[in-house]
Amino acid sequence: MAVKFDVKETERKPAIDLYDLVAELFPINRSLTGSGVRKTLGIVARHIGLEINEIKSGTAVLDWHVPMEWNIRGGSITTLDGRVLVDFASSNLHVLAYSKPVRGVFTRAELERHIHTLPDQPDLIPYRTGYYADDWGFCLPHNLWQSMNDEVYHVEIDSDLSPGSLTFGEFFVPGEAGDEVLLSCHVCHPSLANDNLSGIALMTALAVRQARQKRRLGYRFLFLPATIGAIIWLARNEPVLVNVKHGLVLTCLGDSGRFHYKRSRKSAAIDQAIAHVLRHSGFSHEIMPFNPYGYDERQFCSPGFNLPVGCLMRSVHGTFPEYHTSADNLDFVKAEALDQSYSVIETLLDLLDANCTYQRVEGRGEPQLGRRGLYRAIAGEREVGGATQMDLLWFLNLADGNHSLLKMAIRADIPFARLESSARIALDAGLVTRVPNDQKRIE
Ligand code: ZN
Repeated sequence: MAVKFDVKETERKPAIDLYDLVAELFPINRSLTGSGVRKTLGIVARHIGLEINEIKSGTAVLDWHVPMEWNIRGGSITTLDGRVLVDFASSNLHVLAYSKPVRGVFTRAELERHIHTLPDQPDLIPYRTGYYADDWGFCLPHNLWQSMNDEVYHVEIDSDLSPGSLTFGEFFVPGEAGDEVLLSCHVCHPSLANDNLSGIALMTALAVRQARQKRRLGYRFLFLPATIGAIIWLARNEPVLVNVKHGLVLTCLGDSGRFHYKRSRKSAAIDQAIAHVLRHSGFSHEIMPFNPYGYDERQFCSPGFNLPVGCLMRSVHGTFPEYHTSADNLDFVKAEALDQSYSVIETLLDLLDANCTYQRVEGRGEPQLGRRGLYRAIAGEREVGGATQMDLLWFLNLADGNHSLLKMAIRADIPFARLESSARIALDAGLVTRVPNDQKRIE
C-alpha cells in the first residue's frame, strides 16, 4: 500500500523493535494482578523510567475494591494412568484466569461444568476470565474435550488467591505547557499478542520517542490492568485530569486489518486530529461513534470524568476470529503492521504538539509575497516539507486568530505538516504572530 505521509520516512523508525518486544512479552502469564504483570512492567521499565505502583488488595476505590492477588504455578488435567492431556505449561490460556486452587479426581460430568471450549473454532483454546467468580476452570480445544471419554480425570490447579496488591505502571514526560496527552493500554492478558501486547510495545516505543524530543505538551503513558486499573488511576489523579486535553487508548494494533478509531464521548480535538491523520495516511480506515463498551475509554469517558479520550485499533475487539483465542499469537501480529500503527500515532502526536493558532499582523488584503522572496522560499520548501504556494495562501487566509492549524488543515484538506511548514515561512517573514495558548484555547 502506498503511504503518503507528510514527514520524512527516516523519522519513522521506532527506537525499539516493536515485534521483538511483543515476542519477549508473549510467554509471560498476566492477569489483573500478580507476578506476570510485575515482570511485564519490569521489561517495559528497561526502556523508560516507568513508575510502578502497588495498590493493596481490598482498597476501596470509587464503586470498586482492589481484588485479591492471583498467582499460578501450574494446572493440568491428567488421566488416571498419568497421561497429561491439558497443561498450563504448554499454554497459559488453559486455566481460567483467577481460578482458585483445586486438586482431586473428578468425573467427566463434574469436570464438564468447569470446561470452556469454542465449538465453532474446535482447534483453538479460548481465553476466559473469572475475576470475581470464585470458581476454577480449564479452557481447551473443543476437539480435545470431545476426545476425552474417560469416566474420571485427575485435576490440579496450583494457584493462590490471597491478599497482595494490584500493580500498574505510569510514565510522565512533562512539556513546556501544563496541557497533557494521555495514552493508555492494558497489561492484564496472558499470551495474546494483538490484544494487549501490541499496545504495550507501541506505548513503550512512543514513550522513548516523546521523552527524547522537544515538546510543547506533556505525555502521560499508563500501563493498566483492565477497568480496575483505570478506575484506580482516575480516582488517585483527579487534580491532574484538568490538564488532559487529548487521550487515546491503544489496543489491537498489530494485525493487518484496517485502522478503526472510536471517537470520544464528547466531540474533541483528538477525534478531528486522528480522522485527519488517517485521511492523509494512505491507510484504509474507519471512524466509529463512541459507545460505552470496549477498553478503558469506558472509564475515562464515564460521565463524572468525560475526558477527551478515544480508542485506536486496527481490527476491532470481539469482531475478528482470532480475538481472545490461542490464534491471537505471534503469527497473527506482523512487524509491518506494528510499524504502520507506530507511524500513524507519532504523526498524531506531532500534530497535537504543533497545533497552534496564528494571527496575521496585517489582515487587510493579501501580503505581497514576491517582495518578500516567498515564492522562492516556497519552491525551496517544497523539496523539504512539501509546502506549496496554495498551502501558504490557505494559511495566510485562515490565520485570523480563530483557526488552529488543525482546523485550517481540515478546512483546506491539506496535510497538517504542510500547513505547519507554511506557518514557519510566514512567521519567519513577520507576516503572522502566534497566539499564546493561554489566550486562545486550542480545541
Ligand atoms: Zn481482551
